[in-house]
Amino acid sequence: MSEHHEIVIVGGGTAGLSIAARLRAAEDPPAVAIVEPSDKHYYQPIWTLVGGGVFPREISERDEADLIPTGATWIRDAVESFDPEHDTLTTRDGRTLTYDYLVVAAGIQLDWDRIGGLREALGKDGVCSNYSYESVDSTWQTIRGFRGGTALFTFPSTPIKCAGAPQKIMYLAEHAFRRQGVRDKTRVVYGCAAPAIFGVPKYRAALEKIVDARQIETMFSHDLVEIRADAREAVFEHEGRSVVVKYDMLHVTPPQSAPDFIERSPLANAAGWVEVDKHTTQHTRYANVFSAGDCSSMPTSKTGAAIRKQAPVLAQNLLAHRAGRPLPASYDGYASCPLVTGYGTVMLAEFGYDGKIMETFPFDQARERYSMWALKAYGLPTMYWNGMLRGRM
Ligand code: FAD
Repeated sequence: MSEHHEIVIVGGGTAGLSIAARLRAAEDPPAVAIVEPSDKHYYQPIWTLVGGGVFPREISERDEADLIPTGATWIRDAVESFDPEHDTLTTRDGRTLTYDYLVVAAGIQLDWDRIGGLREALGKDGVCSNYSYESVDSTWQTIRGFRGGTALFTFPSTPIKCAGAPQKIMYLAEHAFRRQGVRDKTRVVYGCAAPAIFGVPKYRAALEKIVDARQIETMFSHDLVEIRADAREAVFEHEGRSVVVKYDMLHVTPPQSAPDFIERSPLANAAGWVEVDKHTTQHTRYANVFSAGDCSSMPTSKTGAAIRKQAPVLAQNLLAHRAGRPLPASYDGYASCPLVTGYGTVMLAEFGYDGKIMETFPFDQARERYSMWALKAYGLPTMYWNGMLRGRM
């Protein structure tokens, strides 16, 4: 038995909810079903400040049921496979769904097991991560209890969500160590698989100055591959050889990838992401399939900020296609990254495709400011819950 819905959205996270809200707000709203297995939704950007001890993690969590737009159907299940030739998908619970339009918004997969020893070590003996609700509290516990030694922060060799997050927590920790009076007996080390601190030259230059001023040691092109928790050793791969760093605190950003069920489907490109046109968000081979957010192939920075601009484009284009009109809207690659550089300071990076600077404010955004901290800590969460997820901004 199959069940038909005009539009099926896979994933009720940042992208799925924002798009559903916009579709339901249309003049002639389509019937929308959201397939989402989780009964909780998380505002992940605030985990940086949770890991820094500014907020409790509970403020990031809300019931999925309260966020499903009025009139949309929530199917509490997980998609397992796609058959886009027959406009069909199957779920974990054995459902078969058919659709007129499919929107894939299932986020990115965290590959904790790709680092040897990480899963067993996480949350204990100085090993922590802001990258999940389960582990984020361990970050602040580790920072708060730190008495000196080597504090190591890593960045993997894969694409990740919020490429700034691995270093934001490092700046908060470094600041916290100064406040706790242990900075003079501490080495702060950034073990980063990328070749530079940030991709966009304007912000890279500003961040390099901060790293220098705070005496943070950088190890670029170093990819964390193993944790030997008993010996408190982190093993990196660097130019074909192993480099071992002893740590007292280790904040890990796990390798990430396209979700397996997407990667093995006909919707994926060679790298596993849903293969869409980077401006229209429409699939390059299946005209009734669209995708946005972290699981899409769009070569932008994987952030909620990017989704804020992708969601209206996707909704407008899908509705136009449904009405038999040409696709009117185009996404320019906009993404933003509020680079937290300490308690009370943020540098707001905003850029589009090919690193084009796309700043909102009339001042130099490569400077650290309290106003941008206030935006990050208070303004953006409010915009998210009350605006973006409701299809209003
Ligand atoms: P998600 O919001 O993760 O949602 C994906 C949904 O798909 C989930 O609800 C999941 O349960 C569901 N799903 C998974 N598998 C299936 C399946 N098989 N079937 C159906 N549903 C499925 N962004 C910013 O803009 N600014 C920041 O400062 C920022 N900081 C960050 C800091 C951290 C520590 C982290 C972790 C992220 C940060 N981000 C930031 C990134 C931002 O949170 C993500 O880019 C954004 O939430 C991605 O939205 P999404 O809809 O693609 O995925």
